[in-house]
Amino acid sequence: MKASLYHFKTLRDTPSDAELISHKLMIRANMIKPIASGIYTWLPLGTLILKKVENIIREELNRGNCLEIIMPLVQPKDLWDQSGRSKEYGPELLGFKDRNKRDFYLGPTHEEIITEIAKKEISSLKDLPKIFYQIKDKFRDEIRPRFGVMRAREFLMKDAYSFDIDETSMHETYSNIKNVYKNIFDKIGLDYRIVSADSGSIGGDKSEEFHVLADSGEDTLAFSNKSDFAINIELLDEKDPKKISGMPSPDGNGNLSLKKGIEVGHIFQLGTKYSKSMGLTVQVNNVLQEIFMGCYGIGVSRIVAAAIEQNFDDDGILFPESISPFQCYIILINQRDNPQLNSEAEKLYLELKKNDIEVFFDDRDLNPGVKFRDANLMGVPYQLVMGEKTADNQTVELIKRIDQQKEVLKLNEIINKFKS
Ligand code: ATP
Ligand code: MG
Repeated sequence: MKASLYHFKTLRDTPSDAELISHKLMIRANMIKPIASGIYTWLPLGTLILKKVENIIREELNRGNCLEIIMPLVQPKDLWDQSGRSKEYGPELLGFKDRNKRDFYLGPTHEEIITEIAKKEISSLKDLPKIFYQIKDKFRDEIRPRFGVMRAREFLMKDAYSFDIDETSMHETYSNIKNVYKNIFDKIGLDYRIVSADSGSIGGDKSEEFHVLADSGEDTLAFSNKSDFAINIELLDEKDPKKISGMPSPDGNGNLSLKKGIEVGHIFQLGTKYSKSMGLTVQVNNVLQEIFMGCYGIGVSRIVAAAIEQNFDDDGILFPESISPFQCYIILINQRDNPQLNSEAEKLYLELKKNDIEVFFDDRDLNPGVKFRDANLMGVPYQLVMGEKTADNQTVELIKRIDQQKEVLKLNEIINKFKS
């Protein structure tokens, strides 16, 4: 992509309400634009990154035999009456009436819808086990939307739902999906931890959360220094972090220490909560059996912010290669009145594209300072500087964004550098 054809308008100032570095950088790099409190448009650059995250998630779920579907955002209230959650869920649930005065909600999660679908689609033991998932916007009327897309009202979630004939099989499915989650977060390249968690309004017997570690995280996590014990402190009787720190671990091994985390995933063993209330059963040897369910969420849009929260410096973002909008970024400097340099740059750009290397080419006629500043802000891991030396010696300076390490390469070495 060429800068002159793109829409990359960086902002110098950050909004006064932006507290988190990820929020500031996403606004400055023009990745997102607010339209109302907690409601955002994703502009081209943001969309590109969001889609990278989405695709990694999709690939790993598909590999784990999860089946992608698309469920409606608008959900009949009747179904929520059946599960009992129209009363339980609270004011985050935004409802409205259609022209025939029927009640609907904007979906904050999809347990009711998927249970209703499963009642129609799962008719015998042969249909089990099964895992359905979608990647779709959710709406939750959050009391205090903040931190940009980190806590939005409309946000992108991956939600998966599993169906098994008994508890043992549900446990197996749960642990398979937990492994898929590990693959997803490893592949994105995040520093994360898995902790026991509260099941909240989703319900069920057991749940675990995936947290990206960051000082700005809203959740406090406790870890034993001697065992695998790890828990969100909202599950402990003692809630005061100062008192928890150093406390003996509830599993009897070692003492607790604390870290801050951003919740990016949450997996639940629901058991028969929804199949019981909504009547999801299969017949086994002439007996109707309630199906065991699990549900599994990932905050897709929140991951973009969380990844930035973990990867930035004074000059901007340091994208992990896995979700960087581009693989490399050509910074063409002092090209005015240098037709040879212009044509070398154009040639390299086309060659990179031909080799399926995702390249951003800053072909704008701006002073070098501005161009370096924008490149550092966008955070693409490799910068290719093309200037007078390119025209004179056929060389390009390759700069690694993360540590500013420089390497001079011949023009004809570049493709191989990125192809490997
Ligand atoms: P939180 O405790 O942060 O409010 P939650 O426990 O209510 O989240 P879940 O119902 O577990 O959220 O939803 C699955 C995932 O969706 C979460 O792990 C989180 O990553 C993401 N998510 C939840 N609420 C939001 C939000 N308001 N904005 C962006 N992402 C969200
Ligand atoms: Mg949660």
